[in-house]
Amino acid sequence: MSNLRFKVVEEAFHKKPVDVPHLQERPSEYFAKYVFNREKMFKYLPSKVYAKMIDVIDNGAALDRSIADEVAAGMKKWAVEMGVTHYTHWFQPLTEGTAEKHDAFVEHDGKGGMLEEFSGKLLVQQESDGSSFPNGGIRNTFEARGYSAWDPSSPVFIVDDTLCIPTIFIAYTGESLDYKAPLLKALQAVTRAALDVMHYFDPSVKKIVSYLGWEQEYFLVDEGLYAARPDLLLTGRTLMGHEASKNQQLEDHYFGAIPSRVAAFMKDLEIQALELGIPVKTRHNEVAPNQFELAPIYEECNLAVDHNMLIMSLMRKIARNHGFRVLLHEKPFKGVNGSGKHNNWSLGTDTGVLLMAPGKTAEENLRFITFVVNTLMAVYHHNGLLKASIMSATNAHRLGAHEAPPAIISSFLGTQLSKVLDHLEESSDEDLISLAGKQGMKLDIPQIPELLIDNTDRNRTSPFAFTGNRFEFRAPGSEANCASAMIALNAAVAEQLITFKKDIDTLIEQGEPKISAIIQVIRRYIKECKPIRFDGNGYSEEWKQEAARRGLDCETSCPVIFDNYLKPETIRMFESTGVMNRKELEARNEVKWEMYTKKIQIEARVLGDLVMNHIVPVAIEYQTKLIDNTYKMKAIFPAEEAAGLSAENIAIIKEIAQHTAFIKEQVDAMVEARKVANRIAEVREKAVAYHDNIAPMLEDIRYHIDKLELIIDDQMWTLPKYRELLFIR
Ligand code: ADP
Ligand code: MG
Repeated sequence: MSNLRFKVVEEAFHKKPVDVPHLQERPSEYFAKYVFNREKMFKYLPSKVYAKMIDVIDNGAALDRSIADEVAAGMKKWAVEMGVTHYTHWFQPLTEGTAEKHDAFVEHDGKGGMLEEFSGKLLVQQESDGSSFPNGGIRNTFEARGYSAWDPSSPVFIVDDTLCIPTIFIAYTGESLDYKAPLLKALQAVTRAALDVMHYFDPSVKKIVSYLGWEQEYFLVDEGLYAARPDLLLTGRTLMGHEASKNQQLEDHYFGAIPSRVAAFMKDLEIQALELGIPVKTRHNEVAPNQFELAPIYEECNLAVDHNMLIMSLMRKIARNHGFRVLLHEKPFKGVNGSGKHNNWSLGTDTGVLLMAPGKTAEENLRFITFVVNTLMAVYHHNGLLKASIMSATNAHRLGAHEAPPAIISSFLGTQLSKVLDHLEESSDEDLISLAGKQGMKLDIPQIPELLIDNTDRNRTSPFAFTGNRFEFRAPGSEANCASAMIALNAAVAEQLITFKKDIDTLIEQGEPKISAIIQVIRRYIKECKPIRFDGNGYSEEWKQEAARRGLDCETSCPVIFDNYLKPETIRMFESTGVMNRKELEARNEVKWEMYTKKIQIEARVLGDLVMNHIVPVAIEYQTKLIDNTYKMKAIFPAEEAAGLSAENIAIIKEIAQHTAFIKEQVDAMVEARKVANRIAEVREKAVAYHDNIAPMLEDIRYHIDKLELIIDDQMWTLPKYRELLFIR
């Protein structure tokens, strides 16, 4: 048997880092070189148009269609100077990637020639033949067409020879078919609601911004090794593979020196990211071998989401130039730490105040407590939804598997903040209200030490942790579009802040002074949302039981978790904040269930093929060798001696027979189970069948394959092993 494995291992071992030319310019000089940012707008747009664009970007002013032609002309001039020939509307369909359709700038000039053309009409809106994108039936039932519409709040940028225009993607009947449209609505809802609440503390604030700082984890695998693993290639994860004898036990990879081939990749990636205006800042090794992390400086949430989508596609492209493949799957290797995408989230004012950062005065601290407690309320009331927002067939491998965050959403606040909340909750009404009477300037809220900002007090097991001036939502998957989590979180917080304002205004109308009204309501909230606060070990068995007692969502089945999107309180929340309506939620859930089914279906097929084409033939070949050897023993040794000498052989022959028999039987059973599941018409039920009946079979089969890997002659094994995939770079 020719063995590709040894060839690719050998080649990977000797690969040298790709030379990345050292740029003479400093990052500050090439930052956003390929972005039509304010500086370029100023240069390429007439001053009135520029002023209008800034108003649109900064204040969400409505875009005046009449300026679109002038904006398009300026963009085109810049783009053509940069050597650009095509443009595309760039959008985020409900699959995990981005979509684009490139058109050239050329039009007939009417005299038999061509001219470069790009009108405002083409910039602002385009019909899209996107019927192949998942849409949960919305477009089929209503209108056959959808269209993409320019999002002027995220700047256009250049990739290769193409001008990319960030757009939303919607049906002609108005329903969102993407992530960006509901995200923009959720951001509008939360920033408005937060502004209203902020006005209790500082009426001069004009604008609130929702921020996101993501941390992207990923694996790098040598391209040759990757190509020799059909499971990685087709499903993004290894469906088999015994753990290497050395994994991450020594924790020597985390913060260790970055290997040189990887360092070259990172350098290349960082330069290109900065050129695209993505403010990348941090890079380091992660816990697992060949696992790394990248994080930018946080940005306005919509822009941060676009930048994350863009960086994922950059990573895929640049990795290949360095002879790597980047694995964004949440769990490419069993028994090895998975990859997440921590979403650091906060709200801030246009004046630079972070609403969830403690201040120096009692009043600032009341503002701080107000926003923290309202966030906790939102997370408490919608904990099931938040879990649904990060759930997927791939992320399911990571959650609840004794690593990363558990499959129950709870919040860790740290000892200091917990004490402050406990104190507020326990003080008597008289205490607080008499103090509050003095215009709230001497509130019974202890000065919160600056130390809190230092966030040394950490709990790695918490899925939603307070980290000094923000919350860190750690459950999102490495491959996911951050928008999914950000839509749910921002919308839920918006709903909560609206309720809070109503509660306060009611008390004020009844004659309660503002500050004491706020304190009363906050105290009530602190009591109410207490079940979401958990500072202990999120991986423990006791927590699962405790969380169930507290009424938190403890469901672990991915397709069932999606039900959270259709609960009455979820629909009410999304509809009241104007983010999505019932029809959109139903359609999107259909897409989620369908995608879940497809992912498991593909894995089952790939595993079936690998078993029949790689595993079983190799097992039989080795078994035959052993049988042959046993026969020959008999020929040269006396019977009794031969029996003794071949005892080990015979044991292995039997073992192989048992494993292969089991595997073949299970693969057949899996095919049957798939046939049964495929006959189910209802998408949710089908997904549940795939989850309950087929996904577990993948694990069962794998168990036996991994046992065979340990027994069979290494020289005969055709698929690169974990020790090769994970340790060669
Ligand atoms: P960690 O220690 O968790 O790895 P880092 O210091 O690397 O965290 O930063 C994580 C991310 O949090 C970065 O993207 C950073 O810009 C972002 N971040 C910091 N402050 C805020 C904030 N107030 N709001 C949102 N994101 C923030
Ligand atoms: Mg972090």
